[in-house]
Amino acid sequence: SFELLEKFRDPELCRKILDKMQAELGRELRFMEVCGTHTVAIFQSGLRSLLPEKIVHLSGPGCPVCVTHESEVNAFLDLAEKETVILATFGDLMRVPGDKGRNLKKATADGARVKVVYSPFDTLKLAKDNPDELVVFIGVGFETTAPTIAATMKMAREQGITNLRVLCFHKTVPSALEALLTDALTSIDGFILPGHVSAIIGLEPYRFIAEKYGKSAIVTGFEPLDILQSLTQMIDWRNRGESHVTNNYTRIVSDTGNTKALEIMYEVFEPTDALWRGIGNIAGSGLEIRQEWELFDAKKEFGIVIKEGPALAGCKCGDILKGIKQPDECPLFKKACTPANPVGPCMVSTEGSCAAYYKYKVD
Ligand code: SF4
Repeated sequence: SFELLEKFRDPELCRKILDKMQAELGRELRFMEVCGTHTVAIFQSGLRSLLPEKIVHLSGPGCPVCVTHESEVNAFLDLAEKETVILATFGDLMRVPGDKGRNLKKATADGARVKVVYSPFDTLKLAKDNPDELVVFIGVGFETTAPTIAATMKMAREQGITNLRVLCFHKTVPSALEALLTDALTSIDGFILPGHVSAIIGLEPYRFIAEKYGKSAIVTGFEPLDILQSLTQMIDWRNRGESHVTNNYTRIVSDTGNTKALEIMYEVFEPTDALWRGIGNIAGSGLEIRQEWELFDAKKEFGIVIKEGPALAGCKCGDILKGIKQPDECPLFKKACTPANPVGPCMVSTEGSCAAYYKYKVD
């Protein structure tokens, strides 16, 4: 209810927790949030500027648009150039830059048929309305979106729709966290885990963070008090030499996740290796369409193979997604790169770290 929500924003209580934090902090604590919604919440609420200096906030690979690899972006831009294709996409991919200054917005101006959809289910109608064309949906996102896309494919099969394809670039969050924990350049004490992704996968896939790497990870809601509570807990555990994986967002996330959604997701997709922007290949961190569903597979239809290519010149999104650099350490930040004229995806997406820094950071 609204009243309950207000409790999570109580400024008095926030101040008390912040004071307690400051008193107990000791040495630096470096935490990473892995969800674009958290990035925005931390800035928008003003929490970022209130946190003690020794709490270092890093934005991780939690924005689906930002982690989409350069070669994946180029692959869908190539498809947009095909006359036989109607490309369907979520709006946030429209301005993501590819090679040669290309993006979907410009492609549309040049005559490409690109339709912005609000739900993958909209592609069913699009396919039915255009029976002589191939409708290709760009499947970008994490465990949050993948089940809906799997459900759309199931409906398409039930309805006998044969002209819908999915360009499957889905990625799964836990394997990316493991890649960061094994990267010698990153230094992370704990993770604020994504609310939406965790609502699907539950707590189990994150257990390794404490068991194997001795770090803490907490599924957390999006209100300032949610975030403060998790940070206090992380400090407390760290001071006691403990590490745990836990769920503080029990009003939305169950420890077991959404088994129905997972079932649908794995009925249609299976794990595969995937390239992440700035991170590179992570074994088992992507989803691909199972053979039984290959009729829907745009990669098979068009022979698309995703492999490492040149990174976007000058853009430091990769280092930012790994928590090695902060956006204002990129030489292009606020200069050549702004939301109106973005150089990299972290500035394009409203959930990207560079866009959040640009909009909210005042120092
Ligand atoms: Fe890339 Fe722009 Fe962010 Fe620099 S400021 S890392 S160029 S998106």
